[in-house]
This record gives sequence, structure tokens and C-alpha cells, in this order.
Amino acid sequence: MTAARSLKAADDLVSAGLIEPEKLASIRAVADRYAIALTPTVVSLIDRMDRQDPIARQFVPDPAELLTTPDEHADPIGDQAHSPVKGVVHRYPDRVLLKAVHICPVYCRFCFRREMVGPQGDGTLAPDELSAALAYIRGRPEIWEVILTGGDPLVLSPRRLAAIMRGLAEIPHVKIVRFHTRVPVVEPDRIDASMIAALKESGKVVYIALHANHPREMTDAARAACARLVDAGFPMVSQTVLLRGVNDDPTVLGDLMKCFVETRIKPYYLHHPDLAPGTGHFRMDIAEGQRIVSALRGNISGLCQPTYVLDIPGGHGKAVIGESAVRGDGGCYSVSDFRGEEHAYPPK
Ligand SMILES: *Cc1c(COP(=O)(O)O)cnc(C)c1O
Ligand code: SF4
Repeated sequence: MTAARSLKAADDLVSAGLIEPEKLASIRAVADRYAIALTPTVVSLIDRMDRQDPIARQFVPDPAELLTTPDEHADPIGDQAHSPVKGVVHRYPDRVLLKAVHICPVYCRFCFRREMVGPQGDGTLAPDELSAALAYIRGRPEIWEVILTGGDPLVLSPRRLAAIMRGLAEIPHVKIVRFHTRVPVVEPDRIDASMIAALKESGKVVYIALHANHPREMTDAARAACARLVDAGFPMVSQTVLLRGVNDDPTVLGDLMKCFVETRIKPYYLHHPDLAPGTGHFRMDIAEGQRIVSALRGNISGLCQPTYVLDIPGGHGKAVIGESAVRGDGGCYSVSDFRGEEHAYPPK
């Protein structure tokens, strides 16, 4: 069954057969706190016979979200501390996030910005707020890259996107505009000629970072939407969150990375889940994550290797947290190969 519109309420999910009626009260409590949305595309991907379905796990709310642990935080990666003007996060010297919109076509149950996104979230930047954000960027020649995220910037109409892109076109020191989005996967038809024309409006180099977490998300329609973007001249990279019960398996993760490469998307980041409220059921220990990531090295193409990163809580930025293959110092090292065998460097 394919729904004609997005499912956004606990009751919709019961009618669609995605949650059992006895869970309705607890799911309503989840819905009071965190936004829910599943596009028809996502609903059609869910295997209702599989109680552990990795697509359902990402998008169908779970009573476990009502559990918040003491180390979880409403702003887990410290966006607020680095926000000089509304809609801008400036943590690194040469690049800023521009959060023009806080709406997404789907709401991921593990979202690190779950307290800020959604219909009750921070909304869309008003025209004067957008002007102030662009003025901040214009006034700082060190800003080389602007990263549109949110929310999902590709929910904006082509008309509004084009207006933002024209604003960026007027700032000569901005060379790169990057979009972080789930739209090509969850609403592929949005990637049409008018959207592509809007993305070209700045005349800058535009990169698209696609967020996807399971190989089944990379449907023919999703791949075709990505092909339209790549063919239009936008290089693509991927972004995945390492999630318990979704992709915490080297075979699944490796298959996902291969799907990306087959779609001309270079695997970029694999994120350790952030300490967002009510997401403990998705997290694993970093050591377990390192084992999964290490299992990719050597066994699948180097093109398929993502960088495993953690956003350090409190706003300290991202750190690469993959296991190092090398140990030792003072000119005498031990290097492990992809089978786990150790070799001296330089050889004895
Ligand atoms: C993740 C992030 C970026 C982008 O980092 P890259 O390593 O360039 O992908 C930029 N700004 C902020 C605030 C971020 O959290
Ligand atoms: S698309 Fe991104 S911002 Fe939106 S709910 Fe998912 S993780 Fe959060």
C-alpha cells in the first residue's frame, strides 16, 4: 500500500498498519515531543512483515524515545554556542552552516537536531533574518564554503532556493555551496528541472551531500534523482549515521557504500550517533563502531570507505574516530593489515 500523502500523526501510523493500536498512547506521547513524518516513498519501502525492518526503525516512532538518559542533551553538538546570528552556525574558520529551514520531508527518529526541527521547531528564516545571515557571511572573507542544512534545504521551493542562491552569488569569497539533504531518497520527484535550475542560480560550485543509512533506501527512483544531480554538474558525497538495528553490520554498511559509489556518490562521513534525547536505542559503543568500520577496509574498494567521525559534545567539532592501523613511535612502528596481521615498519 502506498499512501498518497505523508504520515504525520500517531493515529495515521495506526491506520497505515505501521504501529499496533496498543502502542497508540505512548506514540502520541512521543509525537507531543518530536515531529513525525514519513513520505509515501518511505512508507512504500517499509516491510510490515519484518518487526526489525531497518527502514521502519529509522522513521516510525518508538516508545523507547520517551527514555532520556542523563548524558543526552537537547543541543548535543553545541550549535547554539556557535550561532552568531539566527540561522548561522560558525564553528570552523572557513565554513558556516546556513539553516534556512527547520522542516524535513521525513523526521529521523535518531535526529541530532530533533529539538529544533519540525513544525514546532525553529521555523523558516524570515526574509530579514535571511538578509542578516547573508550579511554575516558577506562580512567575513574567511568564509569559503556555505553549507545549507537544517532541516532539509531541498524542501524549499525552487523559487526560494533560487533567491538564497542569488544572495550567495553576490559574495565573491564564497566558492563552494554544499547541501545536506535526504530529498533524493525520500521524495525523489522533487529533484526536477526547476530544482536543478535553482541550484545553478549562484554560479558557484555546488556539492550535494546525501543522507542515507540503508542500501534499501537506494531505490531506482533515488538513484535516478541522484543521477539528475550529478549529470547537472553537482558532485555528490554521502553521509550516514551508524545506527544499531539499521546498519550496524559490515555487510549492510559495505553494501550501502557500494550503492553510493555505483550512483557516483563518494562516501564521505559515517557519523557516530549524537547524544540526542531519546535515541539511546540507536547508539553503540565507539569500540563496536570501530570494529564495524575496520571490517570494510581492504574487503571492499577504497572508493567505498567513509570516514568514521564523532561530533564532540559541547560544540568542539568533529573528530575522526576510526581505529588507527599504526602503533608505536620513535621510528619503530607496527602496522596492521586488513586481515589483522601485524607488520613492523620499517621491516626488521
Ligand atoms: C559538521 C559541520 C560542518 C561541516 O564539517 P565538514 O568536516 O567540512 O564536513 C561545518 N560546520 C559545523 C558547525 C558542523 O557541525
Ligand atoms: S533529515 Fe536530517 S535534520 Fe531532518 S530529521 Fe533527519 S537527521 Fe534530522
